[in-house]
Amino acid sequence: MLSNVLDPIHRVMSGLRYVLDRCALAVPMTALAALSAQAIEINISPTSPRLGDTITLLIVSDSETAPIVSAGDRDYPSFPVGPRRYRAMIPTTPLETPGTRSFSVTDDLGDRASLSVNVRDRDFPIQQIWLSPEINAIEGTDYEFDRVEAFRAEVTPDRLWTGSFIAPSDGWISTPYGVRRYYNGEWADDYYHRGLDYAAGTGSPVYAAADAIVGLVDYEANGFEIHGNTIGLNHGQGVTTVYLHLSEIYVREGDRVEAGETIGAVGSTGISTGPHLHWGFFVHGEAVDPTDWQSQGIK
Ligand SMILES: [Zn+2]
Repeated sequence: MLSNVLDPIHRVMSGLRYVLDRCALAVPMTALAALSAQAIEINISPTSPRLGDTITLLIVSDSETAPIVSAGDRDYPSFPVGPRRYRAMIPTTPLETPGTRSFSVTDDLGDRASLSVNVRDRDFPIQQIWLSPEINAIEGTDYEFDRVEAFRAEVTPDRLWTGSFIAPSDGWISTPYGVRRYYNGEWADDYYHRGLDYAAGTGSPVYAAADAIVGLVDYEANGFEIHGNTIGLNHGQGVTTVYLHLSEIYVREGDRVEAGETIGAVGSTGISTGPHLHWGFFVHGEAVDPTDWQSQGIK
């Protein structure tokens, strides 16, 4: 559409080890017990994230139960990745203010650790979009927003993806992640482009970006006025992807799909100015930049 600006990010995600404070808050301990308590250790990556990045915490804890990460007013789960090792993922978005993010990790042994990271600002492209009054008047239906929100909130314990996510289309990226917009001259405060647009011909294949269970299938005819015909894939542990504006859908809710499997076809259903795939990538319900997930995966 208006912007062909590509903004590829190829950054090395390196881990920086923090050895953190030990805390005997929760459980009254004798001095001896306190000495033998294990500290929680945390590796964070990337060490210098930007808005839109997924922040990954690798946690070492003696607990047999996955620790919880508190960030701001939200808690995030962690999941086992090996003996005494857990991973939590925290989304960031273009709507947030850049600056310090503090994380607090608590396990059920009473240990607690905290750390902060600076989330850097990032210039997202800005577009001016002019819509006809008829199109501008389409607000979407509660049905579609409720369905999509419920799908994105899914957190299932099994991690289904391995390695990097693949491109969901053979098309070229016509609108990158994070673009901010003026609609008919008015700044859209809550808007950012929550995914990547791939320009491709009607009927061209849409691929599952990684192994998943199909968590959402719905159609324009049922009330998906804005999204159009839609597939949502649940990759597990709070990671979901959506595929919008499809002309055809070849899967059903509950199907297990593999990376690269053709799940639908590009179309222009819903609010769309021409055939393209809108591909959204969500971590715990927030649309993050998929670029790192495509280039190197999240370990
Ligand atoms: Zn889009």
